[in-house]
Amino acid sequence: MATTRKRTVKRPVAKKTSAVETDARKSAKKSVTKKSAVKKSGRKKSATRKSATKKSATTSLAAKKSRALAEYNRKRDFTRTKEPAGMVPKATGKTLHFVVQKHAASRLHYDFRLELDGVMKSWAVPKGPSYDPKVRRLAMEVEDHPISYNTFEGTIPAGEYGGGTVMLWDRGTYEAEDGGGAASLRRGYEKGDLKFVLHGTRLRGAWVLVRMNRPGRAQWLLIKHRDATADPDLDVTEEETTSVVTDRTMDEIAAGRGGAKVWRSNR
Ligand code: MN
Repeated sequence: MATTRKRTVKRPVAKKTSAVETDARKSAKKSVTKKSAVKKSGRKKSATRKSATKKSATTSLAAKKSRALAEYNRKRDFTRTKEPAGMVPKATGKTLHFVVQKHAASRLHYDFRLELDGVMKSWAVPKGPSYDPKVRRLAMEVEDHPISYNTFEGTIPAGEYGGGTVMLWDRGTYEAEDGGGAASLRRGYEKGDLKFVLHGTRLRGAWVLVRMNRPGRAQWLLIKHRDATADPDLDVTEEETTSVVTDRTMDEIAAGRGGAKVWRSNR
C-alpha cells in the first residue's frame, strides 16, 4: 500500500500560482516577499532559525541555487509565454556561454547575459554594446535567467512580463580576462568590476562591466576595452540587425515567419 505522499512536481509547465508557491516554499528560509507565501510557510518558521550559520560552503551554494531563479519564475506565467521555465541544470563543462538578445519590449533594449554558476547573469542595455572604448553603455541588472533562455527567440505575448519580440542577436562563449575561470568572474561580479573576453559572432574581445554606486536597482556600465577588436568606427548594433541564428529581422520574428524550422535545427 502506498504510504508515500502525493507529490506535485511539474516545474516546466507549472501554472503561475503553483510556480509562485513552489518558489516561495523553496526560498522561504530567507527571502520571502509574498504575503501569501509567508502565511503558507508560517508553520515552518523553526527552519528559519539562525543555526544554519555554520553550514558548509557546498550546502549554502546548493541553497542559493534552489532559489536562484525564483524572481525569474515569479514574474512569468508559463501557460502564456513560450519562454522556458527557470531551472538550474547540473554543472557541466568549464565552457561558459553568453548571449545577447535584442528585445523590443515597451522600450527596445539589448539583454546581455553571461553564464555564471548555473544561471545567466543579465543586464538590460538600452543602447546595446559599443565597440568604441570611449563609450560607456548603461546596463541595468535584471533578474538571473535560466541557461535555457539562450536559445529563446520569438514573441512574448503582449500584456505578459517583457511582452514583445526577442531576437538572438549574438551568442558564443566567454571567459575571465585574467584566465582565472569562474572563480575570477564570480569575484569580479561581486566586486562590481567584471572583466571578460567574448568569443561571439558579433561581439569579440575584451569588455568590462562596472557597477555604479547608486541606490536602487544595480546599474552598471558596459565598456569595450582597448584591444585589437576595439573599433570606434564600427556601429555594431546599426550594422547587425538580424538574428545571428535564423537571420530573421525583428519584423519577421514578430510575424512568426520562417522561424520554428530554421531555428530548431540550430537547437
Ligand atoms: Mn529584456
